[in-house]
Amino acid sequence: MYFKDVHLEFEVDEQTEIYKFKLDNGKELHIHDFTAACDENFAQISTPYPGEIPKIDQVQFATLEIDNESLPYVSLFGQPGFESFENKFHLHTDIIAGSFFMLSGFEEFMQPEVKDEHGRFSDEASLAVQAEFTHRPVVNEYIEMLRRIMSKLRDKPFAYLREYRTFVTHDVDEIYRLRPLSKAMKRLGGDLLVRRNLKEAFITLKQTVLSFLTVQKDPADIFDYFMDVSEKYGLYSHFYFICGRPGEEDFQYDIDSPKVKNIIQNIRSRRHHIGFHASYGTPGDFNQFTTELKRLQKVCGSDQKITEGRQHFLRLRIPDVWQDWDNAKLKVDSSMGYHNYWGFRRGICYEYPVFDLAKGEKLNLLERPLIVMEVALKRQFPDPKDFKNQFFEAVNTVRKYDGDFVLLWHNSNINHPYWREHAAFYEELVGFMTTAIDNAEDR
Ligand SMILES: [Zn+2]
Repeated sequence: MYFKDVHLEFEVDEQTEIYKFKLDNGKELHIHDFTAACDENFAQISTPYPGEIPKIDQVQFATLEIDNESLPYVSLFGQPGFESFENKFHLHTDIIAGSFFMLSGFEEFMQPEVKDEHGRFSDEASLAVQAEFTHRPVVNEYIEMLRRIMSKLRDKPFAYLREYRTFVTHDVDEIYRLRPLSKAMKRLGGDLLVRRNLKEAFITLKQTVLSFLTVQKDPADIFDYFMDVSEKYGLYSHFYFICGRPGEEDFQYDIDSPKVKNIIQNIRSRRHHIGFHASYGTPGDFNQFTTELKRLQKVCGSDQKITEGRQHFLRLRIPDVWQDWDNAKLKVDSSMGYHNYWGFRRGICYEYPVFDLAKGEKLNLLERPLIVMEVALKRQFPDPKDFKNQFFEAVNTVRKYDGDFVLLWHNSNINHPYWREHAAFYEELVGFMTTAIDNAEDR
């Protein structure tokens, strides 16, 4: 439960198709069980779960008005609205079904055939993108509804049991932007031919020469910068490493090379976190997944257990990839974010236990949803000013629910011609994450 100091009894009344929450003062909250009525109609669906994916016109943007305070929410199942009685509050929107639908990834599970060019469930196929509620943490809105209704029934406000947390994460897709020399030449060609930018080409050329003379670090080698910024704001960064080997699919760097080992050693000595970035080819190949994980574990030694990370390219298919993470005894996956938007792909900004729809059981794995990936935010809001304002918006939304704000910023996207303007905000954005105005009073 997410609230302090709450004692409740819960029961499902199958006769009346109502979920009942009983408070210790005898008052009750009833929630209409929308899925009960659906059982027969949807019996043909070959899953053990009642209900189906809501249609776009079933999605309603509603407002809950209690004591002159309004709370907007997204109704997915049932009808918006409520009835309030002396000892009872009856909610017509089925927020239980809505939460289950969002948290379990029901629509992704039900449509395995929907794939983008990287084999991922495409953003555009999701209900949130189609009905335009990607920026709304639907489930958090429901939790807040419960908090307000219960507070009213009890004549005493409940507080949240949690605190706002921030996670600065970095997927290390490459260690060198300008090595080997062939890659540097490709960059140079890109500056000249694709970007048609002579000035950038000269910068790249200069960086290449200097980095080969080892006078200057490779532009992707900004690990110390990331750690300096995080430390300035009292945080520890989370670095997720890919552990491929030469000859394997999508090989980028050798985790066993002295250079990479030194970087990892440096990160560990500064007490920042090391995590796992499962390579592009791992979905559907558990053997490769565990082989890579073991390589990372070996580099880190037995005194630091690898517990968290993310799939490269956010290649997370459910239920398989969640099962892989769970079977490998990893504790936290943080791949659940949109590829092209900032927002709440699972409708929540809290780390939460994963429910496996295929097995019909809760896994030990926790999902820590990714809220802002710099690449997605820039795709959605290319203008630097919009990029920054939307970042602030995302932080404020998560803060409102004392949630977990998870940022992904790649080490390759700081000293990069495409990123110069946006990366200039990096420190300011991390600062804002940690010092943003607390909106708790405005709730
Ligand atoms: Zn990656």
